[in-house]
Amino acid sequence: MKDLTQNIKEGYKKFRKKYAAADHSLMEKLGVEGQHPEIMIVACSDSRVDPALILQCDPGDLFVVRNVANIVPKYALDESHHGTCAALEFGVCYLEVKNLVLFGHSQCGGINALIGKDSLHQDDFISNWVANAKEAKISKDTDTVAKQSLKQSRENCLEFPWIKQRIDAGKLQLDLWFFDIKSGQLEIFDEQADEFLPVT
Ligand SMILES: [Zn+2]
Repeated sequence: MKDLTQNIKEGYKKFRKKYAAADHSLMEKLGVEGQHPEIMIVACSDSRVDPALILQCDPGDLFVVRNVANIVPKYALDESHHGTCAALEFGVCYLEVKNLVLFGHSQCGGINALIGKDSLHQDDFISNWVANAKEAKISKDTDTVAKQSLKQSRENCLEFPWIKQRIDAGKLQLDLWFFDIKSGQLEIFDEQADEFLPVT
C-alpha cells in the first residue's frame, strides 16, 4: 500500500508548482492583495464532498466553512461556540460575498446520526450538534432529511439580520445545493418548482 503521507507530499508539490512556484503566481497575488472570494459555501465535513474539488476552483475562489451535516444553526447571541456563525459573519459582513451556498449531500453520516440510523458509540458532541437540524426530521430517509435540513438552514440564515438585509437589498443570493455522491450529480433548489433540479 502506498504511504499516505507520501501521497500528500506529492500532492503538495503539485499544488506548489501550479499555484506558487512562478513569479507573479496566484498565491503571491492572493498574499499581496488579500482574498476577495465572491462565493461562500457551508458544506459538510464529509471527505467525499470537498466543494473546491467538486467545483474545480482555485485558491481564493471560495470562502468555505465545513461542519458535520452542513448545518446553519439558529441565530442565537449566547455563550455557545458559534464557529459556523462566526464564519458566516466574516464571509458576509467583511468579505461581502455575493453568493451564499448551503451545500448538502447524499448519504450524510451527520444526518444518519440525527435520524438515529447510525448508533453512536462515542457522543460527547455529535448528537447535540446535529440536533440543530431536528426540525428536518420529517422522514427516515437520509437524503429526504438532508434536503429538508438545507431548507431549515436557509430559514435559520434568514434570521441573521445582516444576511436578511443583504438578501433584501439584492446584494446577496442564497442557494441550496445537493450533491449526490454515487452519480456525482449536483442539484440546485428551484423555488418555483419547489424541488431540487439537476445542473445540466
Ligand atoms: Zn455529511
